[in-house]
Amino acid sequence: DAVVHWFKMDLRHTDNRSLALASAKAKEAGVPLVCMYIVSPQDFEAHLTSPVRVDFMLRTLSVLKQDLAALDIPLYVETVDKRKDIPRRIFEIMEEWGSNHLFANIEYEVDELRREAQMVRHFAENNKSFEVVHDTCVVPPGELHTGSGKQYAVYSPWYRAWMAHIHENLDLLELFDRPERNPDGARQKFQKLFDCSIPDAPENKRLSDAEKKSLRALWPCGEHEAMARLEKYCDEAIGDYHNKRNIPGDDGTSRLSVHLASGTISSRTCVRTARDRNKTKKLDGGHQGIQVWISEVAWRDFYKHVLVHWPYVCMNKPFKPEYSNIQWSYDRDHFAAWCEGRTGFPIVDAAMRQLNHMGYMHNRCRMIVASFLSKDLLIDWRMGERYFMEHLIDGDFASNNGGWGFSASVGVDPQPYFRIFNPLLQSEKFDPNGDYIRKWVPELAGLSDKEIHDPYNRGAGTKAKKVGYPKQIVEHKGARDRALSAYKEGIESG
Ligand code: FAD
Repeated sequence: DAVVHWFKMDLRHTDNRSLALASAKAKEAGVPLVCMYIVSPQDFEAHLTSPVRVDFMLRTLSVLKQDLAALDIPLYVETVDKRKDIPRRIFEIMEEWGSNHLFANIEYEVDELRREAQMVRHFAENNKSFEVVHDTCVVPPGELHTGSGKQYAVYSPWYRAWMAHIHENLDLLELFDRPERNPDGARQKFQKLFDCSIPDAPENKRLSDAEKKSLRALWPCGEHEAMARLEKYCDEAIGDYHNKRNIPGDDGTSRLSVHLASGTISSRTCVRTARDRNKTKKLDGGHQGIQVWISEVAWRDFYKHVLVHWPYVCMNKPFKPEYSNIQWSYDRDHFAAWCEGRTGFPIVDAAMRQLNHMGYMHNRCRMIVASFLSKDLLIDWRMGERYFMEHLIDGDFASNNGGWGFSASVGVDPQPYFRIFNPLLQSEKFDPNGDYIRKWVPELAGLSDKEIHDPYNRGAGTKAKKVGYPKQIVEHKGARDRALSAYKEGIESG
């Protein structure tokens, strides 16, 4: 017999709720703990998982396998080609291992919730148990309600309720122990599982050798790396977060999103570690940098709560149904220019090139390019949402959908539709010396600080033309007026 933990987006053995519960159950029953991970190419397809993210997860599995092996716990990895076969295959594997107890952490996306609800029923009907538990959010979805018992659809009051709930339930910040060492004999019994290898990425999600080289150097994987990054960030930079978080040319943010998205660190560990560096135990007191950083980690919880309460956001629908009738543009040339970073707006181009090069983009720039696509180009925000998922290493459905909904004004607690970012003003405000533009649009590096934000209208047209930098594909003022009318008409007819 054995107790089994099924890893999904929780690729760590420290502070993992389901894994800790499975370990306790195994100890109580006097049987070994065995872990599994199912590689599902169809899920990668369905979730638009980027190759760089697939590579990060598969690399992480090797680290996890070693950490678990050091505790005599095997991690078995198998590829299941058709996603519909996954529940049946897991059941079969458990039969092979003689196990009646499966544990996993909940994922809140609609397909996953449905699948797991079916599995819980099927297991119960067949004398096995499947326990799925909340883990990915600091405050589990369903815990917070407005005075009238509804789910919050606005971040600020939700955030106050989130903090109050944690202050009243400090055990939410208690971290879970890593699993206990397996009893003697587990190695011999499960030797084949210890020996299994980690498969390659499916062919359509494979990085080229050159990409592997550069991206792996940029994104070291695994939970030890995540923890070291968090500790270093809290020691050296979090204090200045509130001042620097909006400056894309400055490395003022934690870059932990890749780890939170793959579960190589938990949001609980993040909040707890940051709070412990503060002089107060209150999340809304003490050091401003720490407070603001925790409030950003909370946005991640917020968007997951939204997903649970309004699951239709998983179905390509805007959170605000009255925004369903906007007449979007599907201009292929404009979309291609945006994707490739050649719109003629240096800040937009720098950001898109950062995404294409490293699978990551600074938060301020995510807002700028999302606003530019959905408002200046009036292109369907879902095309941008999709492109982001296909390229981000930290692609997370809830945060990505939430971020696009915010910027395109169709989401929960969004930017009002008539607030349209002026890319030039954003550029001058948040990249004043052009450091970020110079890094990602190097052909403009020789321009002055003033010219670099808008070469053709700042007297640097000849220089820009010479280095092959394009002219603006739209004129902002006219594009802004077009967007205002299209949004207004869409809402009125909705
Ligand atoms: P830090 O500033 O150090 O913040 C710490 C952590 O808090 C982040 O790692 C992240 O988990 C969380 N966080 C911070 N800001 C947000 C936010 N606005 N929404 C949700 N969580 C937040 N984040 C993703 O993790 N995956 C996505 O796919 C994603 N897509 C986005 C798309 C758009 C259009 C926008 C505007 C934002 C998106 N974000 C996404 C949120 C945010 O841009 C990233 O989390 C952040 O840039 C990651 O960098 P960091 O780890 O250095 O963040």
